[in-house]
Amino acid sequence: MKISALNDLTDPVACPLLVLKVGSALLVGTDGEPRGQWLSALVAEIAAARARGQQVIVVSSGAIALGARRLGMEKGGRGRLADAQAAASVGQIALAGLWAELFAGHGLIAAQILLTLDDLEDRRRYLNATATLGRLLAAGAVPVINENDSVATNEIRFGDNDRLAARVAQAAGANGVLLLSDIDGLYDRDPREAGAARVPLVRGITAEILAMATPGSSSGLGSGGMTSKLQAAEIAGLAGIALGIVDGRPEAPIGRALGEGSGTLFLPRGRKQARKAWLGGRMRMKGAVHIDAGAAKALAGGSSLLSAGVVEVTGQFRRGDVISVIGPKGETLARGLAEYDSGDCAKLVGHSTHRHAAILGYTPRSAIIHRDQMVLL
Ligand code: GLU
Repeated sequence: MKISALNDLTDPVACPLLVLKVGSALLVGTDGEPRGQWLSALVAEIAAARARGQQVIVVSSGAIALGARRLGMEKGGRGRLADAQAAASVGQIALAGLWAELFAGHGLIAAQILLTLDDLEDRRRYLNATATLGRLLAAGAVPVINENDSVATNEIRFGDNDRLAARVAQAAGANGVLLLSDIDGLYDRDPREAGAARVPLVRGITAEILAMATPGSSSGLGSGGMTSKLQAAEIAGLAGIALGIVDGRPEAPIGRALGEGSGTLFLPRGRKQARKAWLGGRMRMKGAVHIDAGAAKALAGGSSLLSAGVVEVTGQFRRGDVISVIGPKGETLARGLAEYDSGDCAKLVGHSTHRHAAILGYTPRSAIIHRDQMVLL
């Protein structure tokens, strides 16, 4: 059974493992304190899901907002990176304690994991996270995950828990992601405009869909906004994972929104092999190869990328690094593992494969990116 409607996200058969993302604005009140009653109702819903046989991983924001209040920082702790890092250190203790206590009330054990972007971009560390999540779920615990904001600097941070949730879902092999938001889904234009309509179902993140997102989050407490939610939907979709956005503000929001079907469901693309799903969700690339129209056609037909179709190499990368493949119109067509360092790659630009040995002076690989190590976007 596949996920084809929002309420399938709570069905233990269609969705045996769900990643639930809870944003800062829902968790923390305008007074800077946790919204206790709302949270305990949510935890009761998660406990009920567990009792039905569905596993749940929580991705919880709120550390910065809670810590900023305790430290008396302005701008909710988001004025400067150092503030956010310090606020998160203080807030994360409170946040983890809160979840642990609420789950214990239902006889459940909460388990905290703090991740940085690099933990999921590096294949070995990604597999470590996968193993830990799998072991925790098998042991019956409820993983509660946040970004490790105290050590993450601008270059190495997700910055928003929407994409973190999608990446965690991939790592854990989840079937669905549910983003509890302060809006009930994606609107076809700025939701404040007259005539704006909610889009209930999205098949694939197209340019038209991306244009619907208005930048910034309305609450000012979190850093999400619709753009990061669409990016999360894209990461999830590429890995064959469905993603829903629903209004998290009412009490016990999961049952309510899914029961009414009020939200937006992003349908997944076909389920990819795990390694290709990881590649597709990668966020930082070391470089790129730009290719011509002929090569773009060959890739779409399932071929490896050969040097004859490459017109330019940008960035510095080593053999085995993940690079982007850019099409003639500047669009990112694929991502894959480079078979050559960028320097050697540049020497091969435009040359056919049989010339590689003469140009490089060593026995070459047959492709710039082999099709088994590439994911088309
Ligand atoms: N990790 C941040 C926190 O715990 C939240 C990121 C977000 O707003 O999505 O405060």
